[in-house]
Amino acid sequence: MRAHSKFSASGAERWFECSASVEACEGKPDIDTEWSKEGTLAHWLLEQIMLLLLAGKLAVYGQFEGKPGVSKVMFQHAKNAADFIVELGRKIGAEVLVESRVFLSFIHPEAFGTLDGAVLDYFGTLHVFDFKYGAGHAVRPEKNLQMIFYALALAYKYQWNFARVRLWIIQPRIRGYDGPTYWDVPLDVLQSYVAEFTKAVWRVENNPKFKEGPWCHWCKAKKTCPLKRETRETKAVDVFSNVPLPKGNHDEQKESPTSEADWRKESKKRSLQSKKARSQQKAQSREAQKESKNRGGLTYEGITRDANRIARDLDFY
Ligand code: SF4
Repeated sequence: MRAHSKFSASGAERWFECSASVEACEGKPDIDTEWSKEGTLAHWLLEQIMLLLLAGKLAVYGQFEGKPGVSKVMFQHAKNAADFIVELGRKIGAEVLVESRVFLSFIHPEAFGTLDGAVLDYFGTLHVFDFKYGAGHAVRPEKNLQMIFYALALAYKYQWNFARVRLWIIQPRIRGYDGPTYWDVPLDVLQSYVAEFTKAVWRVENNPKFKEGPWCHWCKAKKTCPLKRETRETKAVDVFSNVPLPKGNHDEQKESPTSEADWRKESKKRSLQSKKARSQQKAQSREAQKESKNRGGLTYEGITRDANRIARDLDFY
């Protein structure tokens, strides 16, 4: 089992930005996903192939064919990366490091990490390599804190005996991949990062603060993080406050006395109008009966009354 680094190289961006994440991640297990397992396997393969090549042996797919998860494609990507690093070392006659543990103990005793590969051309260029097997997000070498961590650790270990530093990213599965990319860092710029790392460690230990960002993606504390929970709650409130309530049950309707009052006023008006119309009709009808009596004629009410009388007489009811 790998020793746990409180200030890890791979998590450098996270603890630089979210200083509270170090404590929040304490004791949490690593998050294993299909992709992280595949990445671990690809790194293991790279290490094995580099060791074979450095020992002057051939590396072919058949040697790894039986290993679960190792495909021809994975082998080829790892082989290409291994060839590139080992060849560079041979060409300039420099020492090649494979899967090496490096330390920033001059900054903090619990700051260490493991680099994929490095080529040490003393008094020339210090080459640091990071192999990325992810295919989604392209990682850039510029100002990459994980790589600066490795470079600082190596440069310090070798008493800064390099003229310059080159940080390489090999990410073969990324769309449009066109070979390894690099960032050249002058030695004085690299040295300025000692202060940056020292300040970041100080923030973690003395003034930890939560801060969300892309670095949350691989954070082991993201399920329990108080800032994430707060963000989720705020989002939930925002979402539900925009959902319209069903008709007749809407708070706005209950709280809308103007429209309800208008509706009541209209209703009262209509009822008064129809009452008035009914009494007018009655009055007109009475007038008509009176006139009809005077003329000896029949009104509708009179006809009905007479018809009822005749029907009773004839025993219709
Ligand atoms: S999830 Fe993000 S904000 Fe929360 S502790 Fe992790 S890095 Fe910090």
